[in-house]
Amino acid sequence: MLRTPDQYVRSLQARSLVLYVDGERVADPTVHPRVRPAINAVAATYALAHDPRTRELATAQSELTGARVNRFTHLFAQPEDLRRKLELQRVLGRLTGTCFQRCVGMDGINSLFIATFEAGGEHHERFVRWLRQVQRDDEVIDGAMTDPKGNRNQRPPQQPEHYLRVVERRPDGLVLRGAKIHQTGAANSHQILVMPGMAMRPGEEDFAVAAAMPVDAPGVTMVLGRQPSDERKGGPDAGNALYGGQEVVILFDDVLVPWERVFLDGQLPACTTLVEAFAGFHRASYGGCKPGNLDVLIGAAALLADEHGVRRASHVRDKLVEMAHLGETIHGLGLGASSKATRHESGVHQVDPLLANVCKHHVTRLPYEVVRLAEDIAGGLMATMPSLADLEHPEIGPALRTVVGSDERARALRLVEYMSYGAGSVPLRIECMHGAGSPQAQRIVLERRIDWARRVDAARRLAGLPAREGDDADDRRLDHQIAAAGQPEAAATK
Ligand SMILES: Cc1cc2nc3c(=O)[nH]c(=O)nc-3n(C[C@H](O)[C@H](O)[C@H](O)COP(=O)(O)OP(=O)(O)OC[C@H]3O[C@@H](n4cnc5c(N)ncnc54)[C@H](O)[C@@H]3O)c2cc1C
Repeated sequence: MLRTPDQYVRSLQARSLVLYVDGERVADPTVHPRVRPAINAVAATYALAHDPRTRELATAQSELTGARVNRFTHLFAQPEDLRRKLELQRVLGRLTGTCFQRCVGMDGINSLFIATFEAGGEHHERFVRWLRQVQRDDEVIDGAMTDPKGNRNQRPPQQPEHYLRVVERRPDGLVLRGAKIHQTGAANSHQILVMPGMAMRPGEEDFAVAAAMPVDAPGVTMVLGRQPSDERKGGPDAGNALYGGQEVVILFDDVLVPWERVFLDGQLPACTTLVEAFAGFHRASYGGCKPGNLDVLIGAAALLADEHGVRRASHVRDKLVEMAHLGETIHGLGLGASSKATRHESGVHQVDPLLANVCKHHVTRLPYEVVRLAEDIAGGLMATMPSLADLEHPEIGPALRTVVGSDERARALRLVEYMSYGAGSVPLRIECMHGAGSPQAQRIVLERRIDWARRVDAARRLAGLPAREGDDADDRRLDHQIAAAGQPEAAATK
């Protein structure tokens, strides 16, 4: 089934979610002003699956169910699926101007397909049965990896309370305790897919768990994250009039997960595979959504430049070109990582991990420059403007309008503010920095992935230096260089 946006919203009302917002339990999240904009953003992923202009992009033929499914529940069965994912993310990023929340689940599903395949037997069979159900019901999956982690220099067994962990294994399932933080769209989801946030070592099996549960499973409590200028959501100063992102803390108070929904339980090599595969998929994903978000910010800056009469000034034109060029740089890297796909023996296609990490690394930097240039073009009023409600006031409104200018100008200023340091800056800037891993996480992978020997060998060959020991045949050296074309770099040297 391909749910419609209305069916999606109704399905959220059928849950018995335990959700707290600003210290109060929320009865119906779908009508809460702090939650609804984020639900609208997810609903856009359902709408595109029915829109004749985007149906092909937003859906795919599932080999598991034989039916057409929403792309956010689909396996990357063809290399083309990786590229289409990026294009869909760009469209949605531009359409919503925020995070539409289904990517972590999609990338998690694909990573876990690979990891459970490697774990073998019942692990994979259970996972495939679960995934069929997810595809059939067109569900939103919260990909829950990040633990609170406490002291980053201590391993999980030294501080178990800072990690989600198995506290009991019973005949009817295992019991989970702990928390996951930064959970994108969790309160708008149908299921939580918990996964380890890092590779685990021998002795850390209780932390190497991957399992699925309904968002309203007994013992699950969600608490909505507080974001700058949140209280403006739904009002005239929201900035983004239609959509919003969402981050949630999830508390797991002895949640029983039946064995049928346990996909990994202490399989350490599969757990490492899972974390590495996810990092690749998700770091490339940022080359889809973030350029889409930046399109909105660039558009708002261009709109303001028009309003201010400076659009033709050479430095403004140059700044707009620079902003667009930075967005396209990220997109190109995401597409590049996707185009150098390799097939895992499970049948899922993986991105080039080197380019995926380069893509995400640029995402931790370039959007900050785009924001800086947008703030430059917007002028100081983006930070000092009165509320748009004041502009409507019968007494002060007319005079204020002369100060602030047109509705176009006022609303574009709010949008730039929202995306620069308002509620939208969490999905945009902070998510760019930390989502899918902070910058150093990418640099670590890059150092490990880069084939240093190939580079040194290329230099030695052209400098007329003899081959190094073990690499003495000239044709072998040449092979090593030529093999680079079109292939992801193997982690040949560490
Ligand atoms: C908007 C947003 C959305 C997100 N969505 C999701 C989601 O849906 N699902 C999910 O599971 N996660 C999600 N994340 C989590 C994201 O993956 C993490 O934020 C990221 O991995 C960084 O972890 P952290 O926030 O704990 O920061 P930290 O890991 O604490 O990093 C902070 C700084 O400490 C440094 N550091 C960390 N550990 C060490 C160490 N051992 N030694 C030296 N330096 C260290 C880092 O390099 C960095 O500079 C999201 C995050 C954000 C901000």
